Amino acid sequence: MEIRTRFAPSPTGDLHLGGARTALFNYLFAKSMKGKFLLRIEDTDLKRSDKTLSDKIIDDIKWLNITWDEEIVFQRQNLNEHKRTIDLLLEKGFAFKCYSNKQDLRKSNINEVPANAFRSPWRERILNEERSKPHVIRFKVPNSSSKISFSDKIRGELSWDLSTIEDFVIARSDGSSTYNLAVVVDDHNMQISHVIRGEDHLTNTVKQLLVYQALNWETPVFAHIPLIYNESGEKLSKRDGRSNLLDFKKEGFLPDAILNYLARLGWSYKDEEFFNLDQAISWFTLEGIGKSPSRFDIKKLLNISKKHIASKPVNEIHKSLLKYTKSHKNINLSESCSNDLRRFLPLVVGRCSSLGEIFNASSFLLEGAQLENKEPILLEHEDKKILFDFVMKIKSTSLTWDHENLNEFINIYCQENNFKYREIGVPLRIAITGSTTSPSIVHIMEILGKQKTLDRLNINVGSIKN
Ligand code: GLU
Repeated sequence: MEIRTRFAPSPTGDLHLGGARTALFNYLFAKSMKGKFLLRIEDTDLKRSDKTLSDKIIDDIKWLNITWDEEIVFQRQNLNEHKRTIDLLLEKGFAFKCYSNKQDLRKSNINEVPANAFRSPWRERILNEERSKPHVIRFKVPNSSSKISFSDKIRGELSWDLSTIEDFVIARSDGSSTYNLAVVVDDHNMQISHVIRGEDHLTNTVKQLLVYQALNWETPVFAHIPLIYNESGEKLSKRDGRSNLLDFKKEGFLPDAILNYLARLGWSYKDEEFFNLDQAISWFTLEGIGKSPSRFDIKKLLNISKKHIASKPVNEIHKSLLKYTKSHKNINLSESCSNDLRRFLPLVVGRCSSLGEIFNASSFLLEGAQLENKEPILLEHEDKKILFDFVMKIKSTSLTWDHENLNEFINIYCQENNFKYREIGVPLRIAITGSTTSPSIVHIMEILGKQKTLDRLNINVGSIKN
């Protein structure tokens, strides 16, 4: 049997971390089994679905380097198939037209024993005369005290009391099918062998199994992944700040790092923490997914991201950074700026977790770039006075402008003038970078070269005479 999995997002919002992880697990499982991974956009809810949102979701999946094997299926194109199946279920008596209005529903719910789910009064009637009235179509859940059981690849044997499942709607009053019907028809037609999705879909799975049974279709294997919680143990949501893929994209996280972190959110292989997509494919099994909820831990993500950045060749990070600077900061760097940046990168790659952090650490090099939420620090008058003589001296030297010579120059200057190194080093860093924290100032001076360093010093110190 060919393994075929799918990711089936509804385009009603940005792709969140949970969705991205579902896509990844489906992808990893399909690829680990030499099978196919498919993408289906569930856009049948015409009011809530939005074309720009589906485009964004598709872009986000592409950004993660998760690729699909067949053309994207847009569920909206399958409306006729859904309709045909609804008619078939009606014809065979597995579904019925329900004319109950909201008030009737409320009344009948009051009369129900609380543990029991809604049973429509219309399930037993054949009333052709009602045809013109608005109605929905409901699935007729077997009225027995029996249970429905299935074997979940992650949670093991599960069984559900049928009395807790309501006569669920499969077609809305405008005739369009609901998720639980459409998903069964599409998964069947796409020959999906394994459905891997969040645990919040468990009751949907029970309903979908009833539809599969009624249609006498083979059911896929189900695997329900535990949900992702925030640090206080609640379901991860927008309120937690960074929960959408877009947030991480904007901050310049590398897709490899996000994939690595997402894979480790609920899945493990031995004690591997740091890996790439190919390694994850070769190690992935559904048995490796744990049963307990995962906790989103930003510190772990930052840590993994830092390692991914440090593991890449500097030229690759340079390229990604230029792209990021252009698309997220709207800055096109001049060639000389880009070269300075390239030479600066080895000083920062080991300590930054994202391209955004690298951008901030290097923005003093980038003409026209503004430090985010940060005004450049200005020199105190006293420091300007101290630096003035130093600048005069260094202007007139003919030393070879590299970090070793510059370091020696500062050391000698300090000895001769009775300064501690930091008394020159700190104001020098502020004057050149506008910040008190930066990698070694002599390395930065080397990267900028004599002329650019002196230009910066002239601007910040040059006007002081005494
Ligand atoms: N469109 C559904 C969702 O986004 C898909 C669930 C499923 O995988 O069946 O939650």
